[in-house]
Amino acid sequence: MVMLAPEPMESLKLLVHAAADRLLPVRRLLVLAGAGCSADAGIPTFRDDGGWWREYRPEDLATPEAFAQDPELVWTWYRERRSQIRAAQPHGGQRSLALLQKHFYDGQVLVATTNEDDLLERAGIEPVLHLHGSIFDTTCSASCGWPGGKDTGDSMASHRCPCCGAPTRPGSVWYGESLPVGLLDAIQAFDPDGCLVIGSSNIVQPVAGIPIEMALARQPVVEVNPQATPLSDLALHLPGPAAQVLPALVDLLTSATMRDQRRRLS
Ligand SMILES: [Zn+2]
Repeated sequence: MVMLAPEPMESLKLLVHAAADRLLPVRRLLVLAGAGCSADAGIPTFRDDGGWWREYRPEDLATPEAFAQDPELVWTWYRERRSQIRAAQPHGGQRSLALLQKHFYDGQVLVATTNEDDLLERAGIEPVLHLHGSIFDTTCSASCGWPGGKDTGDSMASHRCPCCGAPTRPGSVWYGESLPVGLLDAIQAFDPDGCLVIGSSNIVQPVAGIPIEMALARQPVVEVNPQATPLSDLALHLPGPAAQVLPALVDLLTSATMRDQRRRLS
């Protein structure tokens, strides 16, 4: 008898079931959401084709040097992206993560992202660790100690710092800058025993190293990404878009069957 290979949709479905099984024993699940997760909501990733803004690459604009040279150009880029993000809505995959955080039986879910948008918060996830900062943060370009803050209405963009008079700048983490203090410590303190990585290229350190180390330590790691990444061979890779795969995975992870199986394990 000739065995036919499953259709792509069918094989993705089987992989989603395998991923739910893989995450069955996890009690502290770390979710890492990358650019591909927001791309499904229409936010450009800046890594794919067409990931340019006008004639600039993000590497040309998201640096202290670029800001010092032409702050208005950098602010224009940020204003446009802020307005694009304000107009976007969280997709079903992001909303399903909020459900997972609330209904992951006898377990906890910590969500961290390298994305600067607020779609995960608007999907209902609390808290969200923004490893590269938030696009709505505004701070002082001279780092004088002014705490800055959220600026959803752009009222602090292109202004002067109220403490020292230096120009205000976006509070995002730029190329060559350190991650906000305490966030990697918070992940370490959470002590995850499983990881779900969504739409991340898995090449930007130090965040990319987290799931790779976990996979090498034989902890369950599931990756959702239409493309293969350096993590894919080490993890259980679901090759589909977050908006499509996550609702199906979360459905299984929060099902009565899964709850009973998890209860039996504990
Ligand atoms: Zn200042």
